[in-house]
Amino acid sequence: MATERQKVSVITGAAGFIGSHLSDYLLAQGHRVIGLDNLNTGTLRNLEHIDTDDFVYMNMDITGYIDIPGEVDYIYHLACPASPIDYLQIPLHTLKVGAVGTRNALGLAKAKRARFLITSTSEVYGDPEVHPQTEDYWGNVNPIGPRSVYDEAKRYAETTTMAYHRQQGLDTRIVRLFNTYGPRMRPYDGRAVPTFIRQALEDKHLTVFGDGSQTRSFCYVSELVEGIVGIMNSDYHGPVNLGNPGEYTIKQLAEMIIEMTGSNSKVVYQVLPTDDPKRRRPDITLVKKLTGWEPTIPVDDGLSQTVDWFKKYFEEEGTF
Ligand code: UDP
Repeated sequence: MATERQKVSVITGAAGFIGSHLSDYLLAQGHRVIGLDNLNTGTLRNLEHIDTDDFVYMNMDITGYIDIPGEVDYIYHLACPASPIDYLQIPLHTLKVGAVGTRNALGLAKAKRARFLITSTSEVYGDPEVHPQTEDYWGNVNPIGPRSVYDEAKRYAETTTMAYHRQQGLDTRIVRLFNTYGPRMRPYDGRAVPTFIRQALEDKHLTVFGDGSQTRSFCYVSELVEGIVGIMNSDYHGPVNLGNPGEYTIKQLAEMIIEMTGSNSKVVYQVLPTDDPKRRRPDITLVKKLTGWEPTIPVDDGLSQTVDWFKKYFEEEGTF
């Protein structure tokens, strides 16, 4: 009897926070993984623990032609600057990754006859007028604001993905990721969780933007990755929310982190960035129905694991 060929997964953005955890997960499932990254916002530090020939890293900017040898079964298209400070610094490149990079990744899927999944974002809902957000809500995005380079790039990327599915018959999936946290976030990526943990561990003030009443819902990265793979293995082509429906104000998040780290830090209030969404929480009815996926890790458990990782990072690097 012929043995089944080892599955091959390509991950764009493999050296990023979520990409590196997805690499670990797929390798543990027995896949061969080809990880692409241009290290613009990713880092090889996230991959250096991987010690298997089943993983191949290729330094590549996916806004150029993507050349991969051999057969490919799955393409997980994650590559994109995803933190507000990143996409505000490189707005034109962010647009290009969403448009040209996504088209190239879809072209690769077509050439390889591979199944394709794109990680879109809750930012497609903008500053939402519907709460919690369901997949059939079309969103409230300012098309010309500073965040629009990310939001609109992802909206366009979803459009391109659906067009390839409808016109070319490509086997595609779209997941909309809500706020995700965990080990390997960059200490200076500017997002609330790594920023507050770094500030708390350094006994610096925690910089809460606005009055801290805006809300977010935080999903631990290991669970999020299981949700992504679950949707890849489903047969649903429309967008699917992935996130933890537990909703916290940013002030609550800051206070939790101060308490958890035993820090002497205080909260200070700074100007709210333009178009910062006021409320965000995923409705996850659809993913539950499709795959049974549902986050179970409480935010204090996930945060305490993240704090431990940041402490270790600081010990190893001597600095943040
Ligand atoms: N935020 C904050 N202080 C920081 C970083 C972020 O108060 O140092 C706020 C930010 O304005 C937003 C929330 O925390 O309201 C989540 O921000 P993050 O960048 O983590 O994610 P996103 O805005 O993309 O949801």
